[in-house]
Amino acid sequence: MGKLTIVMFQILALFLLPRNISASEYIQLSGVIHVHSTFSSGRYSPEELVARAAVKHLEVLILTDHDQVVMEYGLFPFRNLIKRREERNSVLGAGPETYLSEIERLNRQQQSVLVIPGVQSSPFYYWEGNPFNGKLTAHNYRKELLLVGLTSPDDYYRLPRLHGGFSTQYWRELLPRFFIFCSVFLLSIYLIRQPGKIRIGGILLAVLSLALMLNHHPFKSSQFDPYHGDQGNAPFIEVIDYVKNRGGLAFWAHPESNYSVTGVQLGPIEMKTDHYVDALIQTTNYTGFAALYGDTSTAANAGMHWDQTLSDYCNGRRSLPVWAIAGADFHEEQKGFDLDTFQTIFLVDKKRTANVLKALEHGRIYAVRMSHNQRLVLDRYQIKDDRTGTSAIMGEELSITGKPVIEGRLSALDGSRQEVKITIVKDGTISWSFEGQTPLAFNLVDNAELSGKHYYRLDAKGKTAGHLLSNPIFVIRNTK
Ligand SMILES: [Zn+2]
Repeated sequence: MGKLTIVMFQILALFLLPRNISASEYIQLSGVIHVHSTFSSGRYSPEELVARAAVKHLEVLILTDHDQVVMEYGLFPFRNLIKRREERNSVLGAGPETYLSEIERLNRQQQSVLVIPGVQSSPFYYWEGNPFNGKLTAHNYRKELLLVGLTSPDDYYRLPRLHGGFSTQYWRELLPRFFIFCSVFLLSIYLIRQPGKIRIGGILLAVLSLALMLNHHPFKSSQFDPYHGDQGNAPFIEVIDYVKNRGGLAFWAHPESNYSVTGVQLGPIEMKTDHYVDALIQTTNYTGFAALYGDTSTAANAGMHWDQTLSDYCNGRRSLPVWAIAGADFHEEQKGFDLDTFQTIFLVDKKRTANVLKALEHGRIYAVRMSHNQRLVLDRYQIKDDRTGTSAIMGEELSITGKPVIEGRLSALDGSRQEVKITIVKDGTISWSFEGQTPLAFNLVDNAELSGKHYYRLDAKGKTAGHLLSNPIFVIRNTK
């Protein structure tokens, strides 16, 4: 109670003081990540989406059509030769050249909405059951990544995923199995040269081994297949590293999606994907994850998965921090969800694609969920060293010698008064929590003894103005 009184006094004091201009020179761009167009499962063309985004005052549109939508079931031992393949619209189906040039055209045609290319990728799934007894389940098809900022068609063609095209990427890994059938083939040639029944056996063996060589050719787009059960995170790590190496960014799409947890029947196949929120902790090198989206998400609750990754980063057990974004997963408006319901706000100095991607890469972003046509705005969120006066914003690290002062200001988009509850999570625990009305400014001094690296992130819930999640600010204090 005492702490709260102090905070309220501080808030009051701030309102009485003249407002100083924010140290940050960044402008805020409202954007949406995870949007589908007619290139895959969306209702609107990219051009129609740009028009809708402009009406909603969104300035960044990150399209994430499915890279490829394919499922295959093949019969043993010729799974790649005797198979049934189902395919839907996708970027690879239409050709990444067409996708990228349409995005380029839209950016040339208008300046109000920056369109940035991305894809949603399901690089792996595995089969369980048997098609002949009527129970065949595809697992983990919905364990997905959003891949943002890959600019060359080749980047998309070479994605390490199941059922992609011809690829020379894994020939080394796939060669040993291929060689086994090669040697059987060579043996069959020897047998064909023998007289009588041996010769007939040799011919049969030659046909069989040739078919198996074709079936196991080493030029596949993945070193995995869907017939050997769950491969854990390995196929996904492959994609994350690939995207990183090509200068793109990877985000876990919707780790607690309920869409197919209990099983969705698609024709003769049941699709099933459990929550994969543990992948946030088990994998590294990815840029972030959707913390706000259409399902209830617990990963960003205090002390949960996200905080564990951030603490791991502070303790040196992880080399990169993990950022939170909002995932629109927009196909068309439905049940109160529209293109602008889930927004990611970018802090940039210029409205350019490269600057937006930099903000995304470095955590200079915050996530919001709109409610009642209203959203919260984080006018200011920074930490200042009370001794030196130096400060840092989201995604940055501040080396301090004094005490950290957490300064913030929150308002509603239309400037109205909105009831909000603000929580500051420090190192995974709720350290401050207070309520008030927007516009709400606060100023908190952390009196705790600090050593090493710490982080502070803000979580604000409006009574009717939605939800806002900041990214963390890191503070480092080297005690000698
Ligand atoms: Zn999607």
